[in-house]
Amino acid sequence: MSIVLKVDVDTYRGTREGVPRLLALFAKYDIKATFLFSLGPDNTGRALKRIFRPGFFSKVARTSVLEHYGLKTLLYGVLLPGPHIAKNTEQIMRSVVDAGHEVGVHCYDHVRWQDNVRNQGEDWTRNQLNLAMQAFDQYLGCKPTTIGAAGWQLNDFVPHLEAELGFTYASDTRGDTPFFPQTLAATSSCMQIPTTLPTMDELLGANGISGTNIAECLFQHSLKANEYGHVYTLHAEMEGMKLLPAMDQLIQYLIAGEQQFQTLAERHAYLSDREIPMLPITWAEIEGRSGELAMSSF
Ligand SMILES: [Zn+2]
Repeated sequence: MSIVLKVDVDTYRGTREGVPRLLALFAKYDIKATFLFSLGPDNTGRALKRIFRPGFFSKVARTSVLEHYGLKTLLYGVLLPGPHIAKNTEQIMRSVVDAGHEVGVHCYDHVRWQDNVRNQGEDWTRNQLNLAMQAFDQYLGCKPTTIGAAGWQLNDFVPHLEAELGFTYASDTRGDTPFFPQTLAATSSCMQIPTTLPTMDELLGANGISGTNIAECLFQHSLKANEYGHVYTLHAEMEGMKLLPAMDQLIQYLIAGEQQFQTLAERHAYLSDREIPMLPITWAEIEGRSGELAMSSF
């Protein structure tokens, strides 16, 4: 069995503080992962309006947004100007490349994408993707080949825009099966490699799961057979900060269980001689997370 560690980096603080700690952790075990960056302004504070959405309070109470994100981050874009992440963390992003990890795009503006993309049209979507790609190119000096949408949110235009903009594989969705997404009148040539496992913030607090037993719980999930291999999404703001000891423990379990670690690039190469289905994207709720997420329909 193999597992991809996909690191979503959502915030300025997560890039500055969480990413270096994850680099040190992965170096300790000689593991290569895929880091997906938020490249534009950190407007995390604007996400507070999600408080008024049904289901949010139960999630906040369980994962303690303040504890994991910090007060300053929650004021960005509201009472404090949101810092431009790539401009202020260029050296850190480059150090991820220098350490041999794969890098890709998470988004330009996380809150803007997550809260709006599902109802936006082609021009808005193309603009957001272009802004992210330009910042990626400007600060990392190359074109990205992979992307993983913020908050597992997208619209019908995203898969074909990803193909048009040169992404060859993406991890925008949840589900067990890689697929070529069928949207509009066409099938995108940009392969979806979904996140197969639950995230720590989805599991924490439910069914007696805490920081001390979450690694074992996730390891149990990873034992569920999947012929394509698993994809685990972690967050620089969580596993790179307060949940770093749990992530360390999870890696030890995975090594003991003889899981092979892959980047998304390695998984994509492995999948390229497999028969990959063409499927529409569907929407569903996932336990522990508020709102609907994009899913493979298998
Ligand atoms: Zn994210």
